Amino acid sequence: MRASSLRTFSTIKIGGSAEAIVQLKDLQNHRELPKPIRILGNGSNVLIDDCGLKGTVIITRDFSNPEPVILEENKNEVFLSVSAGLYLPTLSHWTGKRGLTGCEYMVGVPGTFGGAIIQNAGANEQELKDILVSVEVYDVHSAQIKNLSVDECKLSYRHSALKDFPNLLVTSAKIRLKRKPSAEIEKQIELNLAYRKEKTPYSKPSLGSVFTRIKEGSAWIYPGKLIEDAGLKNLRIGGAMVSPVHANYIVNEGGATFEDVVTLIGEIEKKVFEHSGKKLFREILIWSDRLFKNYLTLNT
Ligand SMILES: Cc1cc2nc3c(=O)[nH]c(=O)nc-3n(C[C@H](O)[C@H](O)[C@H](O)COP(=O)(O)OP(=O)(O)OC[C@H]3O[C@@H](n4cnc5c(N)ncnc54)[C@H](O)[C@@H]3O)c2cc1C
Repeated sequence: MRASSLRTFSTIKIGGSAEAIVQLKDLQNHRELPKPIRILGNGSNVLIDDCGLKGTVIITRDFSNPEPVILEENKNEVFLSVSAGLYLPTLSHWTGKRGLTGCEYMVGVPGTFGGAIIQNAGANEQELKDILVSVEVYDVHSAQIKNLSVDECKLSYRHSALKDFPNLLVTSAKIRLKRKPSAEIEKQIELNLAYRKEKTPYSKPSLGSVFTRIKEGSAWIYPGKLIEDAGLKNLRIGGAMVSPVHANYIVNEGGATFEDVVTLIGEIEKKVFEHSGKKLFREILIWSDRLFKNYLTLNT
């Protein structure tokens, strides 16, 4: 039986139903879950097909905002256990107030802590990799709990080895934060937020940056600039539009469909390649059981 829509669980407000949509806290009440099993945090980096999905989606965002637990501390640093469902801006403020540095960038990232581990989220010269010590995962196939070291998770720019194991649900992780005066951290959080508000189309539903930066030698090439240089700012297909605020964002102007967004992505990839010869790589993830023969011409 099809459950309610995933649209409300996605920050771009697109998505159909799934055979089962289960909140993590209710998982023990479900014996047999239809397969495949997919795990969703706050849906801030996943484009979900509005035709619906086969199988189960487990939602890990925890609106009860579970407090991090102090595991060990010394003069210079504190080790915390953080629940995967915690909202990143909440973690940023929680640690800032307690004089712990390392999460200041999270204030502008509308995802969960678990999603940030999978994507190695980062901004403002900080990334998850800098603070991660170990990760606790629950294998949804074998029902086993395992602990993985940060080395086993192999975090790199917007990537972790956990992406290759969609059966592993991150339940919590241990992080190491250094001490710093809380006034300095809170000032930095405020600055980050002010900067982000200026450069990010927060007022419209989106999935953040659609494409990753490209490394060429020691320099980074920014996809937003490539897209803007190709004249694609404001390009619109149906309800999906290249944001006039930041060209690496696709925003839902109202009523955008999954097909609008993937067609726009295909168009951007094609036109940027024609204009600059650069191949764009997607940061966002696409969940669909359909084939994209018609629209995604480049790196599907
Ligand atoms: C306005 C806006 C601004 C953004 N700014 C930034 C930014 O500055 N920097 C940045 O890095 N990102 C940014 N993002 C992207 C996004 O917020 C991050 O990648 C975030 O960490 C994703 O978290 P999530 O909980 O939403 O993950 P989701 O989008 O729900 O999932 C992402 C991936 O993680 C997996 N996953 C999620 N939770 C778990 C779990 N508990 N266990 C196992 N797998 C899991 C999913 O299966 C999926 O593969 C932005 C997005 C938006 C909408």
